[in-house]
Amino acid sequence: MNRKKVLITGGAGFLGSHLCDRFLAEGYEVVAMDNLITGNTKNIAHLFGKDGFKFVKHDVTNYTFVEGNLDYILHFASPASPIDYLKLPIQTLKVGALGTHKILGLAKEKKARVLIASTSEVYGDPLIHPQTEDYWGNVNPIGFRGVYDEAKRFMEAMTMAYHRYHGLETRIVRIFNTYGPRMRVDDGRALPAFMSQALSGQDITVFGDGSQTRSFCYVDDLIEGIYRLLLSDEPMPVNIGNPSEISIYDFAKEIIELTASSSKIIHKDLPKDDPKVRQPDITRAKSILGWEPQVSRTEGLTRTLEYFKKELHGVQ
Ligand code: UDP
Repeated sequence: MNRKKVLITGGAGFLGSHLCDRFLAEGYEVVAMDNLITGNTKNIAHLFGKDGFKFVKHDVTNYTFVEGNLDYILHFASPASPIDYLKLPIQTLKVGALGTHKILGLAKEKKARVLIASTSEVYGDPLIHPQTEDYWGNVNPIGFRGVYDEAKRFMEAMTMAYHRYHGLETRIVRIFNTYGPRMRVDDGRALPAFMSQALSGQDITVFGDGSQTRSFCYVDDLIEGIYRLLLSDEPMPVNIGNPSEISIYDFAKEIIELTASSSKIIHKDLPKDDPKVRQPDITRAKSILGWEPQVSRTEGLTRTLEYFKKELHGVQ
């Protein structure tokens, strides 16, 4: 049987676990790799024992090897929420830099195609809006977010070097804010924070005046975009995200309304270097991949709310 095999680093994380589901459903053999510092095996518990699925606990900043053939690698291992990478600055830099080097070396050895998970954070606090892939960004290298932003920028540079110098088949996705089931309730991002606060009647903590904007993409849409990018011929970075932009204050109000919560909005200090605006320009994704988001924020938030209710109160 000629089954294709894919390695997913960060396979026990929010996005990694959804990728495991998708590739298994498409008939691939899947190896999920994770060191479990921010990922959790409960995200992939339903896959244990399934034909074609294997989990390996490993830190990809160390020498990484997988037995047998390998067709594709998706490199998704990294702390990804601001609170996590502020708590784990060295690990974040290491997995983006050393981990990416290990993964590219493994791909070269196996003649596998690699897709790396980059981020809208490569644009930093952007001076052009919406962000197109040809924008080089406005990043503070020594700021608190620099540990993530610069790791991901290095990751892109290293990936392009392997592509240009070794002829490796590479893909770079720049992921914008994504949400959905399996986000950690306590990962500190706006959506998990607001939903858990609203559901437990606590104050909703909007940082700053809440006029900063984000554009939120439902996880199923993101996974579809990544799947198409991997199978495309495009080596240059592609933004994947939902262009529907909203201020954080209005987003908090939307969640209060959706949950029919009596929580009040309170304001806390805006973290340093917090980007003021963010919206993907998805012209390239549309023309190269024929992709655009299908799930509206109302629909996506409703689905996500079911998950958070279950996580917080065990109710369906
Ligand atoms: N934010 C907030 N309250 C929270 C968590 C986040 O107001 O409890 C703000 C944060 O300052 C940022 C936006 O929401 O402006 C999105 O933050 P998140 O951590 O979700 O991701 P980011 O897009 O900054 O990586």
